[in-house]
Amino acid sequence: MSSISDMFGSFVFNDRVMRERLPKETYKALRKTMAEGSTLKPDVAGVVANAMKDWAIEKGATHFTHWFQPMTGITAEKHDSFISPTADGNVIMEFSGKELEKGESDASSFPSGGLRATFEARGYTAWDPTSYAFIKEGTLCIPTVFCSYGGEALDKKTPLLRSMEAVNRQALRILKLFGNTQVRHVTTTVGAEQEYFLIDREVFLKRKDLVYTGRTLFGTKPPKTQELDDHYFGSLKTRVKGYMKELNEELWKLGIMSKTEHNEAAPAQHELAPIYCNTNIATDHNQIIMDVMRKVAERCSLACLLHEKPFASVSGSGKHNNWSLSTDTGVNLLEPGSSPHENAQFLLFLCAVIKAVDEHQDLLRISAASAGNDNRLGASEAPPAVISMFLGTELTEILEAIEKGSAYEGKEKVDMEIGVHTMPKFPRDNTDRNRTSPFAFTGNKFEYRMPGSNMSISCPNMILNTITADVLMEFADQLEKAEDFKAELNSLIRNTIMKHKRIIFNGNGYTDEWLEEAKKRGLLNLPTTPDALPYFIKEENVALFARHGIFTRTELQSRYEILLENYCKVVNIEANTMAEMAKRDILPAAMKYIKFISETIVALKTALLSADRFPEEEILSDLTECVSKLYKAINKLEADSDIIKDKETFLEKACYLRDVIICDMDSLREIADRIEEIMPSEYYPYPNYGDILFSVM
Ligand code: ADP
Ligand code: MG
Repeated sequence: MSSISDMFGSFVFNDRVMRERLPKETYKALRKTMAEGSTLKPDVAGVVANAMKDWAIEKGATHFTHWFQPMTGITAEKHDSFISPTADGNVIMEFSGKELEKGESDASSFPSGGLRATFEARGYTAWDPTSYAFIKEGTLCIPTVFCSYGGEALDKKTPLLRSMEAVNRQALRILKLFGNTQVRHVTTTVGAEQEYFLIDREVFLKRKDLVYTGRTLFGTKPPKTQELDDHYFGSLKTRVKGYMKELNEELWKLGIMSKTEHNEAAPAQHELAPIYCNTNIATDHNQIIMDVMRKVAERCSLACLLHEKPFASVSGSGKHNNWSLSTDTGVNLLEPGSSPHENAQFLLFLCAVIKAVDEHQDLLRISAASAGNDNRLGASEAPPAVISMFLGTELTEILEAIEKGSAYEGKEKVDMEIGVHTMPKFPRDNTDRNRTSPFAFTGNKFEYRMPGSNMSISCPNMILNTITADVLMEFADQLEKAEDFKAELNSLIRNTIMKHKRIIFNGNGYTDEWLEEAKKRGLLNLPTTPDALPYFIKEENVALFARHGIFTRTELQSRYEILLENYCKVVNIEANTMAEMAKRDILPAAMKYIKFISETIVALKTALLSADRFPEEEILSDLTECVSKLYKAINKLEADSDIIKDKETFLEKACYLRDVIICDMDSLREIADRIEEIMPSEYYPYPNYGDILFSVM
């Protein structure tokens, strides 16, 4: 393919292709369905399916699949061939409207959190026409939702779509109050920056922990990691450059605007930022990005690590979820305006987000909760597990002036009466950028930095959308009733600032002082996933999700169970992997070295006949002590792991894993890492941190 513009989107059944290949009437009907989210008529679906099949076959596809996002967090595919047998023993290539629109799937092998017991094991997938079909590795992928036969959501897309509808409904009410009747649709927009590590594949395959769990469970800090900041935005190594080129091309073919790429803080750490789009598509794209990242790495003899914390004491990886609201007329609702009218509207949307974040700290925390991310949050160079919001000095001062009813004394003195005066322009450059805040206003959008690199961004955005919709609903209810709109708006904004300003924090979020201060302010601190998850099913949250049609009580309960179960599985696998590595590899390696030193000592003694203590004897006594401690630590971990099965609920299991097993794992690691420090590299059974982090040159 010649140019990038030819390449871009060439594997996507996008609007251009639809217009080219569909009869006018069909195209129009499809566009209408996409805009309104309604269902297609069977005859229309048949025509679309046929055009899609012809296009896909021309592009070399032989199979199709409904592409969906079950609760496992990765995407699922069930490939079917286009081939259909004919009566005369030949085959034809077929793809019907029914196959496009709906698929049946055995739901029993996907997590359902109890929904399976009460309902049929079957599930179905249904086309989401708002996200384009695409071809990946010779297969036509049709983005779908995944539900049980009773209609309960079994996936991550369904609630996200519902939450986008909720925001749309409530935001339109607000816009109407400001006299805006042109806007027909409001959507949330997302650009998710993806951090990842890239290491040599051979090195990767030598580490059982990386292979089984995605992160290192042992390893001491090498002499150098990120102290010199020489990697951050540094020039790219040739192999990395080659990888990024191939990755970009693959993503461009799939219509994904991968825009910037650079080195991150830690050695071997990088970032990819796509250009933002509507949240549903951004979420699908992020899933594809993670998939393609891994596959291209394999082709380049590299391994792409998407784990939140692959290496202790080195920066972890996050997913910076940039989020805003936008109208179908192209207006970003979080863009400060240039007229008094626009400013009042901006302030109202801003206040809605402030209130939503403050009132629903628990849900936001849950949206970033996973066993993997627990290792990252609160560790080096990562936001703490406390939610706060960064607004920057200028905007904070403006809000203070509004609250007090005083003048804002920025570059010019402005009397801040809402809806009357233009808001002073505040700078939006990078100097006023707080990178330690979990939730930062960055000029015309919020950057939610807490989600982990390995997670689907569906849950964070579903939560953001839902809590914002809820506050917008409350605001709309109040303002629609008001006799004097301007006066009501003024007091609403003022009261909101007064009540929720505790969530605003512009200082360094990585310090212990902030944790103290946050406690004084009464902000929630939920350090681990088992701390956070029980909040999901609190009555007020059940009511919140029901109010906006996002989750029924049953659906919410099932998500809660799935998330807890998932936490348990992950920690369990890590514990088992650790025990195996320590017992089968590290312990034998240490004993081999002990044997070598012992023999050396005997030889020395025979040769030198010295009565003095040799340094080898010090090493020997040190190491034998470590080995005995290691053996005990392994036994303790294994014995404690045996008790997990006696715990009844997933919450009990999860708390036990957190309180007992993770502590055992920490103790085991400490002693194993001490052994790594004593032993010569040639005896240590795995590549060390230095070998891994600097494996790509
Ligand atoms: P940086 O954060 O490095 O300064 P940008 O602010 O340009 O870079 O963008 C960071 C990410 O935010 C990109 O993925 C970009 O597409 C996304 N982004 C920009 N504007 C919006 C918006 N209105 N809504 C959602 N995401 C956005
Ligand atoms: Mg950014």
